Amino acid sequence: MSETVRDVIIVGSGPAGLTAAIYSARANLRPLVIEGFPSSTSDQPGGQLMLTTDVENYPGFVEGIMGPDLMGRFRGQAERFGAEYLTTKVTRCDLTSRPFRVWAPDPVTGEEREFSSRALIVSTGARSLMLGLESERRLMGYGVSTCATCDGFFFRGRNIAVVGGGDSALEEATFLTKFADTVTLIHRRKELRGSKIMQDRAYKNPKIRFLWDTVVTDVIGDSKVERLQLRNVVTDEESELAVAGLFVAIGHVPNTDIFKGQLAMDDNGYILTHAGSRTNIEGVFACGDVQDHVYRQAITASGSGCMAAIDSERWLEAQGEAPAGMQETTTEW
Ligand code: NAP
Repeated sequence: MSETVRDVIIVGSGPAGLTAAIYSARANLRPLVIEGFPSSTSDQPGGQLMLTTDVENYPGFVEGIMGPDLMGRFRGQAERFGAEYLTTKVTRCDLTSRPFRVWAPDPVTGEEREFSSRALIVSTGARSLMLGLESERRLMGYGVSTCATCDGFFFRGRNIAVVGGGDSALEEATFLTKFADTVTLIHRRKELRGSKIMQDRAYKNPKIRFLWDTVVTDVIGDSKVERLQLRNVVTDEESELAVAGLFVAIGHVPNTDIFKGQLAMDDNGYILTHAGSRTNIEGVFACGDVQDHVYRQAITASGSGCMAAIDSERWLEAQGEAPAGMQETTTEW
């Protein structure tokens, strides 16, 4: 079943998608945001910030703000100007002709629905990378996690480990010390990749210890995590570490599977953009982490969401497809 053709559909609801929604809504384009649905990964409404604790570097929040609070504010702001939300996930799309078409299960009935729009903004973000161990998959939710905010509470007074050496791992490790007795950060090299300030914070935290040049080769436990099998990559020495939890924080992959073969991407699956947020298909725009593997910050995602909304509005206008409401728009960009 198809609805009427929309001016803009926004796929994804992290800082990029929701900022695009604020701008598109204020331009009277009445965007439909297909926001994803909750899952155990970052591929969910609100994006990766829903799995983040304190955000201290988003301008305007002197004391910092919790990721989910920040996303709630973005969402409410776009809603105030007329953005509509649908909590479901696009499963396929046809960008070969206009209007563009996307399909997603109805959130209530589960029946497939078709949506179409003149312009499309892709802001599906990126999701957590995993180590690729069978035991990691089996024990996901039983001690293995990718979300300290969601699961940290369960490890009160326990010993746990975080794998990774970037800002995510440092942030998770630091946050988890609120609950855990000790947090062992396991990194495959000797140097951390994360920012200096996060490194300093982790080094100063007496509950965090570091295991260098080490990889996790197995997660041991029948129904819950009991210990990790480790290997030192320099000496090849094997060891075990008794922990109740393993938090995997080793980076992300873009959520672009549904656009493969239609939108141009780099070798890692990130959507290629040019001249702002334009993709290889006229009328399709991309913003946020789905097209940015360099900055990956909430503020840069927001900025690119704003660009996508402006680019799509101007493109629609140039097509002579601007909605009646657009004349009333006060463009206080
Ligand atoms: P990242 O910077 O890509 O770091 C990934 C880490 O995981 C690296 O240390 C990498 O090791 C390690 N790794 C990757 N694959 C692995 C594997 N198979 N086994 C073991 N280790 C593996 O990813 P991120 O930490 O998620 O950060 C992504 C971006 O978001 C960064 O730009 C970061 O600054 C930003 N970020 C910012 C904040 C904040 O400011 N509050 C918080 C989180 C993230 P190598 O170093 O050896 O490659």
